[in-house]
Amino acid sequence: MNGIIKGLKMSYEKNIDYDDLKKGGFLRAKQENGFTLRTRKLAGNYTANQLRCLAEIADEFGQGIVHLTVRQGIEVPFVEYKDIENIKSKVQEGDVDFGTSGPRLRATTCCPGNSWCKRGLINTLDFAQKLEKERGVSCPLRLPQKFKIAISGCPNMCTRGQVSEIGVFGRAGIHQKKSKIGYGIYVGGCGGRNPRVGIKIDKIFDEEEVLTLIERIVDFYNKCGKPKQRLGAMIEELGEENFLSKIREGLF
Ligand code: SF4
Repeated sequence: MNGIIKGLKMSYEKNIDYDDLKKGGFLRAKQENGFTLRTRKLAGNYTANQLRCLAEIADEFGQGIVHLTVRQGIEVPFVEYKDIENIKSKVQEGDVDFGTSGPRLRATTCCPGNSWCKRGLINTLDFAQKLEKERGVSCPLRLPQKFKIAISGCPNMCTRGQVSEIGVFGRAGIHQKKSKIGYGIYVGGCGGRNPRVGIKIDKIFDEEEVLTLIERIVDFYNKCGKPKQRLGAMIEELGEENFLSKIREGLF
């Protein structure tokens, strides 16, 4: 009898597409049949109604708690496979977006920038929106490996862009003998077990330039990165100058 139950359980588990669930914001948990709902909102800004929606999901389907992630998303742990379709409907009705995991572009992190931080030089929220809506550089874009973008309003870099695949920050300085406020960028950093600091490209970019540069980097990595190879490792393999020569045309 135990063997039959075990066999049924194995075939039931075999039919679950865990990767598809992960892509759509349901990550397998350590508990049997357990999942964690991962959500995101642009720049980590949830409205009060969206918070209420997630609180209700946590009460009805989880254990009444939510978890704030380091990428400014909100997770609801301890949900079960059988409730996933109901939870999906509620998340969509609540105008909350699903997060992701695996080899994909993760939720972009974003400090408040000049919207409400007194040190902010650029409008980080507006920039994040343009990157996502106008350039299509948006979670959960499939890529060779995990890929993180962090946007900061000033060189303090509170979102730690130096150790992200792309780190954008507001920057002020002298350009062609005039003072200028624009964008700086780090490329190819990462955290994790083998952390690395990205390459700082020494120029104050305009908004359009830096948006184009990010698009190019993501495209190039998508075409040339090997499976499971992070951007920094790809740059190391190609050589820094060789890599920069592929993305710089007309920009720096
Ligand atoms: S990076 Fe600069 S603008 Fe952003 S929160 Fe930190 S101090 Fe403020």
